[in-house]
Order: sequence, then structure tokens, then C-alpha cells
Amino acid sequence: MSVAEILAVGTELLLGQVLDTNSQFLSEELARLGIDCYYHTTVGDNKARVRDCLRTALSRSEIVITSGGLGPTPDDLTMECIAEVMGAKQEMDETILAGIRLFFTERNIVMPENNAKQALRPVGADLLPNPTGTAPGIIWTITPDRLREAGIISVDSLASKNRYIFTFPGVPSELKNMWMTTVSEFLQVHVVGATIFSVELRHFGIGESALAEKFSDLLEGTNPTVAPYAGHGECRLRVTSKSHDLESAMKLAQPIVANIQERSGYFCYGTDSDTLESVVGDLLKNQKLTISTAESCTGGLVSKRLTDIPGSSEYVSLNLVTYANEAKHKMLGVDDEILTKHGAVSPECARAMAEGVRRLSGADIGVGVTGVAGPGGGTEDKPVGLVYLGLSAGDSYVERKLTIPARIGRKEIRHRTANEALNMVRLFLLERAKVQV
Ligand code: AMP
Ligand code: MG
Repeated sequence: MSVAEILAVGTELLLGQVLDTNSQFLSEELARLGIDCYYHTTVGDNKARVRDCLRTALSRSEIVITSGGLGPTPDDLTMECIAEVMGAKQEMDETILAGIRLFFTERNIVMPENNAKQALRPVGADLLPNPTGTAPGIIWTITPDRLREAGIISVDSLASKNRYIFTFPGVPSELKNMWMTTVSEFLQVHVVGATIFSVELRHFGIGESALAEKFSDLLEGTNPTVAPYAGHGECRLRVTSKSHDLESAMKLAQPIVANIQERSGYFCYGTDSDTLESVVGDLLKNQKLTISTAESCTGGLVSKRLTDIPGSSEYVSLNLVTYANEAKHKMLGVDDEILTKHGAVSPECARAMAEGVRRLSGADIGVGVTGVAGPGGGTEDKPVGLVYLGLSAGDSYVERKLTIPARIGRKEIRHRTANEALNMVRLFLLERAKVQV
């Protein structure tokens, strides 16, 4: 197993002005490749400290990945520091320089002379192309002898191992692009020695520990490996397999993926880039149905997420945000009696909203969402986090009551409510498809 570490360079990170999303992305990707990441270091734009961090990283990790500090300004120091630490000269790469000049002439801008610095590369390092920006990076393979020459003392376990340095600019989109087009493949070939296949099985409605317990028999496996992750109100299981080519790696993973999908049933809603809204969209399209929503406490979040999906006009009809009681009454025809007797946050109101919006739009499915998002407005019998969802379709009606902990805050209550509403539609459509077969 290879060991990597990430060095994020930039004073803006230390000041808390920019969140270090690059390290998060790189760590997830390393995990996907089965490479252990032991350290994340953040350091400001300071030569002595960047050099220190580089020496430490090279002494204890095979793979050293830097992000940031490749720009044209004097505070961009990463490449210089790497050259100094390795005792290497920097040389100007004329092809890269021409590429940078072209980048500017294409935009009708005279290249500031500072930018020429971005074409400097330590002697011995290979180019890591940057297809979407001016600053390329390097891939540098350093032998143990070369490391010793530079005066870097290796930890014993890595004494006979090559080191690999990868440098990336700080701009997240450029870093991701460079990773995807070059580095991921390089690591698979030169470090992992195998091709990796990895798939995420996305789950909703089951917690991380319950999921881990359910699949404890699979979590011990080594090829494929299965690992649970949680976040943003849902859980994922990542299945990763290794083999000499992609096809055989996929074949190794396939039975485990099928096993998980079968045992998870409706908890597993999709893979990789699927979202609850994209899955709902696919189900609606397949069943040739339209949907309409009436939202209160989510303020249109369900509508937003449904319409985030390209092509959603095929199935989204009319979505309303009816925040005030008067709007619920006037627009959706919610009875005054429901509002006075049961209140806006009630199963009766959720139902009247779902049915009302369906009547108004003529959609096949109507969804009503009403609840207390907080932080104020909660009472003893209607506390913050109490939400009612309703789904009306044909002669059927489905309702759900949510009691979300108030402490997670307004934003998260609204997000979870939208998740639950989308999931309710998903489950309804899955059941409907089953009955119709
Ligand atoms: P640099 O390559 O150092 O010139 O960084 C360019 C820009 O990328 C910075 O101004 C930040 O906005 C952003 N950036 C730098 N480092 C990171 C990081 N670790 N995560 C996310 N964004 C970053
Ligand atoms: Mg910087």
C-alpha cells in the first residue's frame, strides 16, 4: 500500500478566506485508488515554511501532492521551493511559454511578463499539462539516491522507494481536470500497478452505522473493498476493485454491487452521480407522469431540485410556493376550516395542498410540503422540525410525518425535508411500477 500526503499552499487558506476543497477532492480520489493519505498540511505563501513542509513530506511519504502557489505573482512559490529543496535548477520550457503567450493573445491581452515564470520547471521534472489554465504542473519521479543527494532523510520503511511529486494550481476546476486527465491514470500505472474500478452506491433512509452493520460481512474484503461514507443526509457504500484492466476490475466488483443492491432494496437509490431528483425524474419519464408541488416551509427547494435536472420540463408542471395561509387558501383552495381548526402545519393541510396543486395544474402527481423550519415559530405540540408531506395521485394518497431535530438548524431542516419529499415520490413511483408489471 502506498502512502500519500497533501500539501495545500496558500495564505488565504490559513486565514479562513478559502475553504480547502482541493485536499478533500484529492483525498477522496486517493481513497478511490486505494492509496492511503496520512497527512494534510496547510501552509501559507512563505518560502522557508513551504520548503520545510516539502522536506518533511518527502521524508515520510511516497506521493507528495501540492495544491496552490503556481500562479504568476511573487507570492506563488511552490515550484521554486521544490527546486530548492531538491537542489535542482529551474529551466524555461519554451513550448509551455509559447502556450501561455497563446492563451493571452487568444483573449486579446498582452501577456504580463510575470506569467513567463509559469513556464519554469525544475530540471528532471516532467510536465503535468493544464488544459484549462496557464499554470501547468509537474510530475517528478525521484529515486532514493536523488533524495539522499538532496539531503532528505527517509523514514526506514520508505528508504528504497521512489518518490512522486505532483503539483497542481489552486484553482479547483483546473486541479480536478489535471487529476482526471493525467494524474489518476499515472498513479494507476506507476504506483498502484493495477487498474481501479470504483462505484458508489447511494442510499437514503438508512444511517451510516446501520448500513455498516448490515454489510459488515463485506467491509472486511480486500478486492473489492467496500467502505461506507455519510454526509448531507444520506449514506454511500463505495465498492473498489483492482485488476490488470478495467473490464476485469468491473467483473470483480459486479457480484458485490448486485449483492448490495439486492440486500439494500429501496434504500439504495442509485450510483455515482445519481441524485434523488435525477432518479425521480427518470421514474417520472419512464412512467410518463407529470408532477406538481405546493411548498411552504421549503420555500421552493423541492421545485428547485426537481428543475435542476435538464429536461425536467417533460414532467414538471406547475410548482407553487404558498407561504401564507391566505395563499394556501386562495391559490390551492385549502379550506379555511382546515387552517383554523388544524393549522397550516397539519396532515390535513399537507393533503389539501397536494390535492389543490394537482387540481390546479392537472398534473398526475401533486405534492404538498408544510412544516416548521424554525428557529422560531415552534410550539409544544408543533415544534421546530415537525413537517407533514402529502402525495396525491389518481385515487391514492400517501402522507408522511417528519420530526427532524430542531438543533440541526433551519437550513438543514429544509434540506432534509426536500430529501424526504423527493424520496416519498421515488418510493411511490417504485411501488406503482411494481403493481403495474
Ligand atoms: P494559486 O494557484 O495559489 O494562485 O490559487 C488560485 C486560487 O485557487 C486561490 O486564489 C484560491 O481561491 C483557490 N485555491 C487555492 N488553494 C485552494 C484549495 N486548497 N482549495 C480550494 N481552492 C483553493
Ligand atoms: Mg496562492
